[in-house]
Amino acid sequence: MSRSSQNLALHGGPAVYSGAWPNWPCVTDSTIARLADVARSGRWAISGAYTGQEPYERQFSRAFADFIGVPHAVPTANGTSALTISLEALGVGHGAEVLVPGLTWIACASAAAALGAIPILVDIDLNTLAMSLQAAEAAISSRTAAIMLVHPYCMVADAPAFRALADCHGLVLIEDGSQAHGAEWSDRKVGTFGSAGAFSLQQVKLLTCGEGGVAVTADEAVYDRMQQLRADGRRYRAVSVPGELELEEVGSIQGRNFCLSEFQAAVALAQLERFHEQQALRRRNASLIAEMVDEIPGCSVPQAQPVVTARSFYQFLVRLDPEVLGPYDPVKVVAAIGAETGVFCEMIDAPLNANCLYTPLRSPRTPASAELRAMLDPKRFNLPAAYIAHRTHVAFGHWALLGTQAHCEAIAKAFRKVTQNIDRLRPG
Ligand SMILES: *Cc1c(COP(=O)(O)O)cnc(C)c1O
Repeated sequence: MSRSSQNLALHGGPAVYSGAWPNWPCVTDSTIARLADVARSGRWAISGAYTGQEPYERQFSRAFADFIGVPHAVPTANGTSALTISLEALGVGHGAEVLVPGLTWIACASAAAALGAIPILVDIDLNTLAMSLQAAEAAISSRTAAIMLVHPYCMVADAPAFRALADCHGLVLIEDGSQAHGAEWSDRKVGTFGSAGAFSLQQVKLLTCGEGGVAVTADEAVYDRMQQLRADGRRYRAVSVPGELELEEVGSIQGRNFCLSEFQAAVALAQLERFHEQQALRRRNASLIAEMVDEIPGCSVPQAQPVVTARSFYQFLVRLDPEVLGPYDPVKVVAAIGAETGVFCEMIDAPLNANCLYTPLRSPRTPASAELRAMLDPKRFNLPAAYIAHRTHVAFGHWALLGTQAHCEAIAKAFRKVTQNIDRLRPG
């Protein structure tokens, strides 16, 4: 087909692929069976009486801790509350500065701000798309208390380097693995390098129960505080007695209710059974697509450093090179790729200094103090690399990697066709 005869699907031409895509989330027989088991059990919440059967919440917490390779896991209502109890359990509160990557989901910054802490938006490294180590070091002040390190999209941040930086300055390191369940740096899973790790189990995440989260830690005292923080100051008793509440009242720290229900825990446990098989398929398909896409001028798939022993593809990314393609409108490019493939794709996150959902100054929690308001203002941060990354990556949901060779080819064909017709997707 000659270049000029290719009409983009976005402009009414034939799409490169028009079949179906894999479904997400994946319902399994075990998911349904466990949900029914909870429904009949007489125990829908961990704050209910012990029935003689171990609650799903505890079963899931053990299974998840084993999977990550960490002694303790505390399930929570969502990833945001996992971050919240991690920060609080580590003593991060009012007035403390928390380094947060300038390019990630808003919950990282909004969770810290909700505790009265001051998110410091740190620019990213364009190779890893994670927080830049140099920019992080430069952002440390006498008020800095914590580094929140996110393993973003399909990349793994250099957690040992951030751990060393945190240790050197007496800061706590919290890893956010919400986009990287099961990813490894040098044979060690993300979430185990920090004093605490937080994961989301929200519907679009790699492991999901609709809404849910988990906080993990190796530290016994942090674990005790995390338990209380998520259950109104209560924690599991040492011995469970049928007919009695399984939680005991402690109150050594002010908790709130961030509990995961039994229904969600049952779904999470069932989904974990399928996780390894799904990861293997995603990894295989990701390398298939990368081989094809890397041949296309102006397109590439971000590589992981060799020290990354296992990748998790929360979002599969294709990087566009404006030097090769010339100026393009990224909104139009994403729409064109979506129209060719019929699968959901998007630009990666908007930088947090320009994200319409990160609005700490519009929160009634934010004090009137002009000094604090100035510190919280996202606009005061400069995030040039985050801005570039936002405009040069097309992101696919991980279920696009759960298909066949034909699905992989569809993605590659779409990039070939769209980049050959990039003249029709110029800005303006
Ligand atoms: C999804 C996500 C969260 C928030 O999780 P919720 O379950 O939506 O509260 C936090 N951090 C990152 C990096 C995420 O991707």
